[in-house]
Amino acid sequence: MPVPPSTLDTMSTRDATDGARSLDRSQLACRVGAYRVSRAVPAEDGATWNQRETLQRIMEQETSHDVIVIGGGPAGSTAATLLARQNHRVLLLEREKFPREHVGESLLPFCYVLLKDLGVVDQITKNFVRKPGVRFIDRDGNISTTWCFDHVIKDETYLSFQVIRGEFDHILLKNAAKNGAEVREETRVIEADLSAGDSVTVTSLDSAGRKSVHRGRFLVDASGRDAFIGTKHGSRKAREELDRTAIWSHWGNVKLQGGLEEGLSIIIYMGLEQKGWIWVFPIGENRITAGFVAQNSYLRDQQRKLTQAGSTDWKYDLCMQELLRSKFVRELLEGSKMLLPMLINGNYSYEVKNHYGSNYAMVGDARGFIDPIFSSGVFLSIKTSYLVSAAIHKQLTEGLNGSNVEMEKAYRLVTGAYNFVHRMIRLFYNPHAVTWAQAGADGLAHKAHESAMAAGHYMLSGDFFENYEKFDDFFKLLEDPKQFRRYQKVVIDRPDLNQPSCHSPWQVVFGDMIERDAERNAAFAASA
Ligand SMILES: Cc1cc2nc3c(=O)[nH]c(=O)nc-3n(C[C@H](O)[C@H](O)[C@H](O)COP(=O)(O)OP(=O)(O)OC[C@H]3O[C@@H](n4cnc5c(N)ncnc54)[C@H](O)[C@@H]3O)c2cc1C
Repeated sequence: MPVPPSTLDTMSTRDATDGARSLDRSQLACRVGAYRVSRAVPAEDGATWNQRETLQRIMEQETSHDVIVIGGGPAGSTAATLLARQNHRVLLLEREKFPREHVGESLLPFCYVLLKDLGVVDQITKNFVRKPGVRFIDRDGNISTTWCFDHVIKDETYLSFQVIRGEFDHILLKNAAKNGAEVREETRVIEADLSAGDSVTVTSLDSAGRKSVHRGRFLVDASGRDAFIGTKHGSRKAREELDRTAIWSHWGNVKLQGGLEEGLSIIIYMGLEQKGWIWVFPIGENRITAGFVAQNSYLRDQQRKLTQAGSTDWKYDLCMQELLRSKFVRELLEGSKMLLPMLINGNYSYEVKNHYGSNYAMVGDARGFIDPIFSSGVFLSIKTSYLVSAAIHKQLTEGLNGSNVEMEKAYRLVTGAYNFVHRMIRLFYNPHAVTWAQAGADGLAHKAHESAMAAGHYMLSGDFFENYEKFDDFFKLLEDPKQFRRYQKVVIDRPDLNQPSCHSPWQVVFGDMIERDAERNAAFAASA
């Protein structure tokens, strides 16, 4: 419904932003929807302008904040928490109602200190399985290497987490609100105007169909795979060389084994045909998340074959067909119950350009996503939010004198880390390289490579952000199988690398979360 411009408060964006800065939160709440109407004028359709104003309020509210964050995943919640802690007025807009399910359940040890700083580590400990390492195995289970983080990390932070993302993300989102961010769920951002350069205007739509206009000084795009800004500006592009899709679910009633009973992540190499792999992570004492990743061309081909053969649920049939190719998974799933419908994440690899500007920054998957093989996504997202939030804080408090050196520095580190992970991923998919399953297998490792093996442990833990040269020897080792074989005769005594174990007692892995686990099982049984 159009409203005559003369009846509206005609404050400019800049005025609205600056004018609101001195108001406290309760005053701000009153400002929401505060349009000024000069008089009650009968309108053509019989409604007075006062009535129209009420309707207009329903249709379009207005808020003013320092920072607007799109998305309440780990990246958005972290940025919102850190900026609100610095007394910036933060509005976080999240499309979904939390908890909502999400892929990405295995966290790297380097997350630990960040979660501790965010103030959520105790809650996370009470809710989720602990993860002491990762085990890579070949399809038949004959060759394997177990990478235990305590090999290189000597304090409590070696023990990471296997989380249920719906609950994990909810903990982080509530933490953002607790730290002072205004959080609006079921509110989708539909437009973001960045043209002013020193402020932003964001339009959102809530579940009741109400439109709101939000003015801010800075926009953080943490919209995940939607990559809101990148998509709007046409700068989100698929990475053709990593065109892969994942199909996954959760299973209960599983007897954990092969290292899962100690909290280990299991990654299984599949054949060259699929150019893919399987993940199995324990997310409860009898519960796993498992998924299958393959090249799109393979999946399309299999989908066609299954459909022609009469499959009415190709996603389910395909995922089971591929999971059951592995002897390890076959044994695991015997007598189990699927707890979620099959979920699919297609074409997940893409890059986005122009990661930041004078009034916006992209964090987490909104900045780009490469491949999940090393479980690096959540750590990269949270760490990026740390670096970028510090730069935003500096910009908001000291202003922009030409360029933001802090922001440039932050994104140099972030880009360096993503490039480093990309290099690890290319190596993983290189069919000529030594695999992470072979690297520590008997007869393949040598004392001379002890420091390289330690580097491998650090890489799997999340040491992505600085001094990448220290990992060069390890890269060379895996890239060149001949170099590896030269040392086969001189075997080091490292049987631990081949055991499906990091010697983590049950109490350490499940002890703190077992009550929550029982609650989840009871809730599932009641709903079944
Ligand atoms: C197959 C697969 C397996 C993975 N496994 C792992 C793993 O084991 N470990 C790991 O660390 N990472 C893993 N990842 C990566 C991980 O899932 C992501 O890196 C991580 O979730 C990114 O967090 P984020 O906050 O950037 O985005 P998200 O967690 O996706 O959050 C983005 C949020 O933005 C909201 N949103 C989107 N658009 C709008 C809008 N217009 N308005 C309002 N809200 C909006 C969404 O609803 C969502 O809640 C995996 C990824 C894939 C594809």
